[in-house]
Amino acid sequence: MGVRLASAARLVPLEGRTPTVTTVCSHSSLQIFHGARLEGLPTIGIAIGKPPRFYDAFPRARPDRFLTVERHSNVPALAEHLREAGAVIIPHGSFVEYLGAEEFAKIDVPVFGNRNVLAWESDRRKEREWLEGAGVEMPKRFEDANEVDGPVIVKYYGAKGGKGFFLAKNREALADFRPTGPYVIQEYVLGTRYYIHFFYSPISDRGYRVGHGSLELLGMDRRDEANIDELYKLGAQEELLKAGIRPTFVVTGNVPVVLRESLLDNAFDVAARIVERSIDLFGGMVGPFCVEGIMTEDLRFKVFEISTRIVAGTNLYISGSPYSDLVEPGLSTGRRIAQEIVRARAAGRLNEILS
Ligand code: AMP
Repeated sequence: MGVRLASAARLVPLEGRTPTVTTVCSHSSLQIFHGARLEGLPTIGIAIGKPPRFYDAFPRARPDRFLTVERHSNVPALAEHLREAGAVIIPHGSFVEYLGAEEFAKIDVPVFGNRNVLAWESDRRKEREWLEGAGVEMPKRFEDANEVDGPVIVKYYGAKGGKGFFLAKNREALADFRPTGPYVIQEYVLGTRYYIHFFYSPISDRGYRVGHGSLELLGMDRRDEANIDELYKLGAQEELLKAGIRPTFVVTGNVPVVLRESLLDNAFDVAARIVERSIDLFGGMVGPFCVEGIMTEDLRFKVFEISTRIVAGTNLYISGSPYSDLVEPGLSTGRRIAQEIVRARAAGRLNEILS
C-alpha cells in the first residue's frame, strides 16, 4: 500500500456515488471530459461567466452539465454542492493559476492528485530544492546580478505564461532590467526544448516501477511562444527591440515532437528521480506531470520547470500519441486520469490518488 493522501472524512461524499469528473471549462477540459466519458464517468464543467460556445461544436467532449460562476474565486463557495454531486476536481494550469495556488489548496472537495505539491511547484526556490535534491540538472542560478557570466533569462514566479520575462546577453545588458515582482536569474540554456508528459500511478503494479507504483510516458510537445519564436525571422533580439517589441514567452499553441529513442532512458531517469524525491518530501506527486527542459548539444537535459498537473500540450494527443499508443491504443492523458479514478475506486484505494 502507498501513501494515504485523503482522510476517510474527505471521501465520504464518494461512498456509494460514481465519482464525477469536474473541472473548469478551459485549458485541457475538452480532453478531460472526453476521457471521462470514455471511461463511463459523469462530468461537470464549471463555466466562468457562461459556458464557452465552442463546446457545442464538440459533442463528444461536452460535460454532462455546467455549473456557472461569475469568477474563479467563487468556486470554493460551491464546495458543498460539488461534494453532494460526488465531484472529483481535476486541476489544470488555468484553474490553479486563476484561483491561486493557496486558495486551490484549501478547496473543500476531493481533488485528483496530491494538493501538497502546489506549495512546492508554485515557489521557484522550493521547486529548485526539490529538483536539485532529486539529482536533476537545472540551469545555473545567479543569486547576484554581478555574478552573471553569460546570457541569462530573468523569470517571475508562477505560471504566468512567461509574460515579462527578460533576456540579457550579458551582465551589462542586465542593468536595464526593472523588476515588477519576485524573480530569479537563470543561465540561458542553448539547445532544444522538450515538454515531456508523464503520468505517475501509485496504484499500478506493472510497467516502469517507481516508488510503490509506476511511471508512464504519454506524450511530448514543444510550445509555440509568441513573440520570441519570431526571432529566427528577425535574426536577433536587438532587431525585435529596435522595432519596439520586447520578447515574451506567452504560449500560443503546441507542436508535437519525439525524442531520439536513445535519450528516452535519460528522460525516464529524470522523471523517476523527481517522483521519488516527491514521495520523500510531501507524500508523492500523483497523476500527470510535465518535465520541461532543454537538451544541449552535448546531450545533457537541463530541467527549467516542472508542471505538476495536466499540461495543455497533451491536447495534441486526444486520440493517442507515439508513446501512449504503446501503452494502450488511443490513450489520452485525460482518459488516463479517468482510468486511474475507476481503478483506484475498484481497488478501494481512492485515498491514495485523491487529496
Ligand atoms: P517557464 O516559465 O520556466 O516555463 O519558462 C517559459 C519559457 O522560457 C520556456 O518555455 C522556455 O522557452 C524559456 N526558458 C525558461 N527557462 C529557460 C532557460 N534557463 N534557458 C532558456 N530558455 C528558457
